Amino acid sequence: MNLKNTNVIVVKVGTSTLTHENGKMNLRLVELLCRVLSDLQNSGKKIVLVSSGAVGVGMGKIGLETRPRGTAKKQALAAIGQCELMFIYDKFFGEYNQNVAQVLLTADVVSEAERSHNVINTFNELLDMNIIPIVNENDTVAVDELNFGDNDTLSAIVATLVGADALMILTDIDGVYDSNPKTNPNAKRIPVIRGINEEIRAMAGGAGSNRGTGGMATKIRAAEIAAEKHIPTYILAGDDPENLYRVFDGQDIGTVFEV
Ligand code: GLU
Repeated sequence: MNLKNTNVIVVKVGTSTLTHENGKMNLRLVELLCRVLSDLQNSGKKIVLVSSGAVGVGMGKIGLETRPRGTAKKQALAAIGQCELMFIYDKFFGEYNQNVAQVLLTADVVSEAERSHNVINTFNELLDMNIIPIVNENDTVAVDELNFGDNDTLSAIVATLVGADALMILTDIDGVYDSNPKTNPNAKRIPVIRGINEEIRAMAGGAGSNRGTGGMATKIRAAEIAAEKHIPTYILAGDDPENLYRVFDGQDIGTVFEV
């Protein structure tokens, strides 16, 4: 796929990519991610970053090893972690003179016209000012009916709100495979998917790590939401944020859901 005219890109990064197994932030990775995104922004692209990690980083900060089940606990951890997350992003992006803004959303931005209108205006202003919006769900208020469910879905919704040219999901696997590569050594990566059908959904399997939510199923759903608005989705290995450059260079990495 030719990405020459790709200007607005939503990049999504998940908890398992941003944090070490003990929940503490993977600073080397976050630092590199901030450099690559600042550089892409310098090259004239407009980046919107959808970042998970609030609950995970909150857990790491207070030394909790397993993700709690209770909603209030998770919300409290998100409140602790979101602040740390933005502090680190602001610091690393600041090293490259890249300003950032925090945007916390609840699902009613999709269902309520006035709210989506306000959110779209805010995004447009931020992008005009050359600022990278860093988006997460507003976890402290997002319960049940206000819930996006997961940040893969959130990233696809953000892509549609900002009219993105591409959605790039950085995750802990380097694309969609025809079977589980952790259990099947012959599993093959699928470089290009055109149209999402039951067969593709069946390949997606389930759950993610103990720090994030999601897994491949929510990524495929995100690709479907984006595809409805003719936005291609890329699934890429997040352990090397320079993979974003490789996609622009036309290298055969990850999986692209073509539209
Ligand atoms: N909003 C949650 C957090 O920042 C993450 C949800 C997700 O990873 O899908 O911890």
